[in-house]
Amino acid sequence: MAYRYLFGPVPSRRLGRSLGIDLVPQKTCTFNCVYCECGQTTNLTCERREYVPTDRVIAEVDDYLATAPDLDYVTFAGSGEPTLHSGIGEVIAFIKDRYPRYRVAVLTGSALLADPAVRAALMLADLVVPSLDAISEEVFLKLNRPSPGITAGRVLAGLTAFSREFPGEVWLEVFIVPGQNDTEEELLLLRDAVAAIGPDRVQVNTLDRPGTDIRVRPASPRTLERVAAVLGGNAEVIGAAPDEPAMVPEAREVADTLLATLRRRPCTVTDLARISGLRPAEVTKYLRILEERGAVEPVREERGVFYRAT
Ligand code: SF4
Repeated sequence: MAYRYLFGPVPSRRLGRSLGIDLVPQKTCTFNCVYCECGQTTNLTCERREYVPTDRVIAEVDDYLATAPDLDYVTFAGSGEPTLHSGIGEVIAFIKDRYPRYRVAVLTGSALLADPAVRAALMLADLVVPSLDAISEEVFLKLNRPSPGITAGRVLAGLTAFSREFPGEVWLEVFIVPGQNDTEEELLLLRDAVAAIGPDRVQVNTLDRPGTDIRVRPASPRTLERVAAVLGGNAEVIGAAPDEPAMVPEAREVADTLLATLRRRPCTVTDLARISGLRPAEVTKYLRILEERGAVEPVREERGVFYRAT
């Protein structure tokens, strides 16, 4: 079966070997974060609906998991906000019922957690990784660029309610953009918010691949350590290492795999997506990194743009 809604498994620095499930078309999200690694949000929305057919997603998941693959997580992530899909609860329930040995994770920007129906839909997951980057409305608007009507206050209220109700683990991600949400004032607000939410882990992150706004730079390791210290006891830094601002080891591994393929033969983005199981947007980002390193170059041919190792 050719999979449309599954991607990977990909090595994830937090989740190990992770099979991705993509429930929304590129790129549908409640936010248009300046640091987003999936590109600009083209459908900025809060509307929950069946963006892709739930029964087809379940059929693909069933087909794949029936082969008993070695996975650390089945993860809802991909081309935007997975909780926008009205059938996410049904897909999670299917996996936990039919394949209970697999742990299910959901990555979310948290915008819809204020909706009790969304919180209920996630209850059977094992792990939810919500984001919270800013508490003051001004910084929130600049950084997350939300769909109209979403406020930082509403996001925080939803997150707090969710973490009280959810029986699984919550790993809160705080993404730091230098000059925007690393001020003392914003960090103290975030510290109080973290205390109210009470997540199992707090992960302080920064860019490791190019973001939507190319002017956004990664935070330095020193800044990340300072942020973690302010946020409190269980906060850990998961951002890029000091000498490797562009990529963490897992990302480098993916880039090297693509480069190894291109050393054998030139490929288009579509070719590489098919071979690697990555989404085309992901492939494009890795190619951009390899191009910046001078490791690959684009060549225009009749069938489109091919990339080849230099
Ligand atoms: S919430 Fe996530 S997917 Fe949506 S724009 Fe922000 S980083 Fe990208």
